[in-house]
Amino acid sequence: MGAINGNTRVVGVMGWPVEHTVSPAMHNAAFQTAGLNWRYLPLPVHPDRVGQGVHGLLALGFAGCNVTVPHKQAVMEHLDDITAEAQAIGAVNTILVQTDGRMIGHNTDATGFLRSLAERGFRPEGTRAVVMGAGGAARAVAYALASVGTSIKILNRTLSRAESLVVDLASLFPTLPLCSLSLTPATLHQEVPLADLLVNTTSLGMWPQVERSAWPEELPLPPSLTVFDLVYNPVETKLMRQAREAGALAMGGLEMLVYQGAAAWELWTGQKAPVEVMVTAAKAAL
Ligand code: NAP
Repeated sequence: MGAINGNTRVVGVMGWPVEHTVSPAMHNAAFQTAGLNWRYLPLPVHPDRVGQGVHGLLALGFAGCNVTVPHKQAVMEHLDDITAEAQAIGAVNTILVQTDGRMIGHNTDATGFLRSLAERGFRPEGTRAVVMGAGGAARAVAYALASVGTSIKILNRTLSRAESLVVDLASLFPTLPLCSLSLTPATLHQEVPLADLLVNTTSLGMWPQVERSAWPEELPLPPSLTVFDLVYNPVETKLMRQAREAGALAMGGLEMLVYQGAAAWELWTGQKAPVEVMVTAAKAAL
């Protein structure tokens, strides 16, 4: 990588904590491959200092940053504008500092999710999806699917959270078939055989609890299903193994992680991101 000098542009990831992020490895590898004099840094920002962190980007000449847990909502009030997509999802994961000094909040999770599906040849338009979970990631996934006309059932352990997500989606997509249910073996047994796509947005199966899965052991998974697990650590989750063993197509969260990162990289640099390099770097960092 070329030396840091007076022309080096800086971006990073703002979160608390940020020690375990793979984003610096992924983005710096992409800058090196593209021959760009840019660096991507971890930016640990305490929850009491989110406003100072956002305004610091402009003061210190950053081109922007990614935003991760727990700041994706908190940064919103400190920005000059927020895209309609980020507004609808209710979270910002990327900030772009424009040349006029305005700071714009974007959300690239929905784009990253749709691009992962497209790269595997799955066209979600007009299909039926079951989404397990109703947290922040579920909001981006549900918005992405709704925006291309997928009918969606949200199943969550805490039913009220699924209900509130469906109410928000229905206000944006009033004609789309949507419903909320409790996440139980019985509702999965009832709903999943009617679906084309099953998405896990719960944190079940995430390291270190790698032997857990949102899909119950005793239930058969339909082989015609496409199963997308957003968990990316480990790269191959128990749910993905269950899907493969059932003959279903299994997709993992690493692809979405890379494509949401690539979309942010493209916003900052204005260039096409070297996605393959980013996949290799993210895998190595994990
Ligand atoms: P979050 O807002 O905290 O939501 C967590 C979700 O998991 C909630 O629906 C929660 O249900 C459910 N859950 C947690 N423990 C559970 C359990 N024991 N049984 C059943 N449900 C449980 O988190 P998030 O930001 O949405 O992230 C969720 C996962 O997605 C994480 O693994 C994260 O790494 C991954 N993710 C991946 C990407 C990517 O690019 N691949 C992007 C974003 C997130 P309750 O509402 O009942 O608590």
